[in-house]
Amino acid sequence: MKLFELRRPADPLEAIRDGLSPGARFIAGGTTMVDLMRLDVERPDVLVDLNHLGLTDIERTADGGVRLGAMTRNADVAHHPWIVAEYPVLSQALLSGASAQLRNAATTGGNVLQRTRCIYFRDVHAACNKRVPGSGCPALDGYHRNLAVLGTSANCIATNPSDMNVALISLDAIVSLRSSEGQRDVAFAEFHREPGDTPECETVLRPGELLAAISLPPARPHARSYYLKLRDRASYEFALASTAVTMSFDDRTMRDVRLALGGVATRPWPATQAAQLLEGRSPEPKLFRDAAELAMLGAVGRPQNRFKIELAKRCIVSALAHVTAAEFV
Ligand SMILES: Cc1cc2nc3c(=O)[nH]c(=O)nc-3n(C[C@H](O)[C@H](O)[C@H](O)COP(=O)(O)OP(=O)(O)OC[C@H]3O[C@@H](n4cnc5c(N)ncnc54)[C@H](O)[C@@H]3O)c2cc1C
Ligand code: SF4
Repeated sequence: MKLFELRRPADPLEAIRDGLSPGARFIAGGTTMVDLMRLDVERPDVLVDLNHLGLTDIERTADGGVRLGAMTRNADVAHHPWIVAEYPVLSQALLSGASAQLRNAATTGGNVLQRTRCIYFRDVHAACNKRVPGSGCPALDGYHRNLAVLGTSANCIATNPSDMNVALISLDAIVSLRSSEGQRDVAFAEFHREPGDTPECETVLRPGELLAAISLPPARPHARSYYLKLRDRASYEFALASTAVTMSFDDRTMRDVRLALGGVATRPWPATQAAQLLEGRSPEPKLFRDAAELAMLGAVGRPQNRFKIELAKRCIVSALAHVTAAEFV
């Protein structure tokens, strides 16, 4: 590991200033960052420790929603009574990820900004456009079983690995970002970017900008939600395909439907058209399958990951069946 200077700012403004130092990187829980530093993928000159800033509150917003400080731990969010009762999809997504120990350390900001698990990205001896722009993408013809089928480009097919991100899309979350110029809010669905020609740019975050908080709008009356994650083993494993669904019901019709996919796309993936197809309709299996087909339209499979297209469709159908069955028992 390369030698680095560790800074421990005491407030967000100091952290933002430190974050603008040449070669600076933020560290929160460190469960991604320390791994990548050990692998020499991350080689910061200055490591800015966010653990003394506060930003640890889970609080009510004026409109009755919930605001999660960037440094709230994944375990605290997952088990918080407001989250369990009003946003179960978020609790379920968090608890499906990593392990209890990791969730105790991992933070909201770090989870949202965690890096891809593509093996070439994590191997400094391999080419990788995301790590070294312009060096190539060996995953296209190499190992890509766990990589994306939606939102890919000729330059990168890496999957966004976060479960939390998928739930946050389905909840219409808002990200609050802070920089020396002030604060700005970005819709969560617009925070992550597809790789295109610049796979090294994963989000709209600007250099030195701090993710300060995530806000959840008030839970809708009679809302139901569910996170379904399909993976190679039942714990300690990333998604091959996952679905987050939220909806409310009005006289047996589905309202305010949101669908989001994980494990299959280069960014947390809003399945907007599929959700629109379900809006105002009564639940039935044929409709669920039609929505799943629509959600995966345009997916591009490769030899090792083609199976994900059908897997994701079945994941969507099962998640919809689960969330609607719970309403009609
Ligand atoms: C063995 C293992 C299994 C895992 N399984 C899963 C899984 O199944 N599902 C899943 O979703 N995740 C999984 N993870 C990933 C885990 O959820 C992430 O490592 C964790 O959420 C990252 O949070 P952190 O606070 O430790 O981030 P850090 O490692 O500290 O930081 C991660 C990144 O975010 C940046 N960053 C952090 N906070 C901020 C901020 N406030 N503002 C700006 N930038 C910031 C850092 O600079 C860094 O680039 C797994 C991890 C491991 C090691
Ligand atoms: S898929 Fe993306 S992260 Fe993986 S090798 Fe290609 S460019 Fe790198």
